[in-house]
Amino acid sequence: MFIKCLKINKTIIILSFIIIFIIVSSIFLFFSFANSDDNSEDKNYIKWVDFNVTSEAMKLTSKLDIESHNSNSEVKYNWIELLAYLAAQNGGNFDNFKKSNLDYLVSQLENGEKMSDLTSNMKFYDYYYEAYSAVLSGFIGNYSIEVENAENEKIMENRYGVKAFLPIAKNYSFSHYDDFGNSRSYGFKRVHLGNDLMGSIGTPIIAVESGIIEHLGWNQYGGWRIGIRSFDGKRYYYYAHLRKNHPYAEGLEEGMTVKAGDVIGYLGMTGYSTKENVNNINVPHLHFGMQLIFDESQIDSPNEIWIDVYQIIEFLKQNRSEVYQSNTETKDYSRKYDFIEENFEGGD
Ligand SMILES: [Zn+2]
Repeated sequence: MFIKCLKINKTIIILSFIIIFIIVSSIFLFFSFANSDDNSEDKNYIKWVDFNVTSEAMKLTSKLDIESHNSNSEVKYNWIELLAYLAAQNGGNFDNFKKSNLDYLVSQLENGEKMSDLTSNMKFYDYYYEAYSAVLSGFIGNYSIEVENAENEKIMENRYGVKAFLPIAKNYSFSHYDDFGNSRSYGFKRVHLGNDLMGSIGTPIIAVESGIIEHLGWNQYGGWRIGIRSFDGKRYYYYAHLRKNHPYAEGLEEGMTVKAGDVIGYLGMTGYSTKENVNNINVPHLHFGMQLIFDESQIDSPNEIWIDVYQIIEFLKQNRSEVYQSNTETKDYSRKYDFIEENFEGGD
């Protein structure tokens, strides 16, 4: 009797444990599912971009955009929409880009068709629009720039057009080829995530777009380098291997804002060293890179998105910042023509 009672008690205890376990784990499972649902909603951002738009396609679409905004034409084109439409048609591969495809799209828009209707059945239009906006949205818009009038006086002129600059100052020569993805041997095995612009040591380096200095200082690979984040947070511009002893323009610090076209530093050959201020690069050049950021978790992770900027450099050759030696003692250079951008968040 005693043994039987003990047995029943044991069974009851074990059963209660099982029931409690089932209740606790279902509560846990319910909450973790609810949570992961929340997370997947939060984490619905672009994870990868291959930027294969050719400079030719950028030139043609930007021309349509700029000319339509500077004339009283009824249809205003948005070059990013035009490029996203073409990408949705060609799968993001512009190798076989045909101007006739763009002409046909333009004729439809001229005839009063709406972009939203034309793209409503395009599965990837929204993806390309968001991806290309992240790359290009700082490149065209309203700005004021200093120009010289007939009396050689400097006056500000309001314009709509390309407001991003080539990273090499005007009147300084450079050469480059599409070297994105080439293998690199210094350090660990890795690929080249930018474009090398070969030039002379001391060539003034120009901020492509306005933004906030996020990194300034020594980095084992990049040497003296500067990293600038666009105001919308989507683009991180990386300029590396700057000049030994005098890498940066006067007075620059992390957290400061710079304007598109400002001198930010000088071309050099520093890097490939854990020790600071060492020239370990064989050929003087600027390493220029652009990282896209759709979510802050993509920074400093294996999920970084660096795009091929070769075609962007080709496109930006049309807009270069002229400089002059503004300090003969320190031999620093400054931009010749001031620039004010609409919605500029800088405070200087
Ligand atoms: Zn490089």
